[in-house]
Amino acid sequence: MKSPVKRKAHVTTVHHLQSNRDKDSMTRPPCVAHRPYALQPVSIRIKFDSATQTDSSIFLLLLCPLWLWFFSMTIGVLALQGDFDAHRRRLEELGAEVVLVKKPEELDEIDGLVIPGGESGTFLKLLGEKGFERLKQFVRLKPTFGTCAGAILLATEVENPKQAGLGAIDIRIRRNAYGRQLDSSIREGMLGNSPLEMVFIRAPKIERVGPGVEVIATEGTDPVAVRQGRVMAATFHPELAPDPRIHRAFLDLVGQDARGNES
Ligand code: GLN
Repeated sequence: MKSPVKRKAHVTTVHHLQSNRDKDSMTRPPCVAHRPYALQPVSIRIKFDSATQTDSSIFLLLLCPLWLWFFSMTIGVLALQGDFDAHRRRLEELGAEVVLVKKPEELDEIDGLVIPGGESGTFLKLLGEKGFERLKQFVRLKPTFGTCAGAILLATEVENPKQAGLGAIDIRIRRNAYGRQLDSSIREGMLGNSPLEMVFIRAPKIERVGPGVEVIATEGTDPVAVRQGRVMAATFHPELAPDPRIHRAFLDLVGQDARGNES
């Protein structure tokens, strides 16, 4: 007769500072396909002293709802035009699950959205009135990050020329504000207290920052990345520079928002 299995499960909370897919596959229960590990600041490591396979599977199964909650965030990248694929790559490098959003109904399936650079006037045309209204609803409820043309779309006020904004972040933004010779450039700005390489392409300038808006990054004296609530905007292209900190900050925002909605 098989002797009764003595077992002890150690559940350890592990704080992760950065994405690491290998560690993810070591600690992920079998019921969860690849999930965006980097979105979560904590995971749980389980070790059995001498559990049978069945016993450990039951234990993992019981933990599944917790894991699914931890790892169930999907980031959409608006893929109507512009450099959406560079965002997709960067987010995936950070461990996020990414879907390209082409139809309004696809917004229902995501927890956060990136609006890439491109041409904001063209975005407006491609969205149409219905798409614009649907996007407006989305950005009120879910974390959204706009870069360059995406930042223009998110603003309350758009100049040069005046055009409609989603009103998600209280800034006035001027399109193509750097003049011809500076249409595109790579410059060093500051993210908090540390330098950050910034790629500007026919970039807009943030001319006014509302009272509820936090400046996250600057270039010279200009605010170039801002946040209000769950909405972030950058006038440069963080997806084209090697530093992942801006995208990571957005993933943190999505994670915080998802946890806030659960509690
Ligand atoms: N100049 C573009 C606009 O006005 C933005 C450029 C960009 O996204 N790189 O919409």
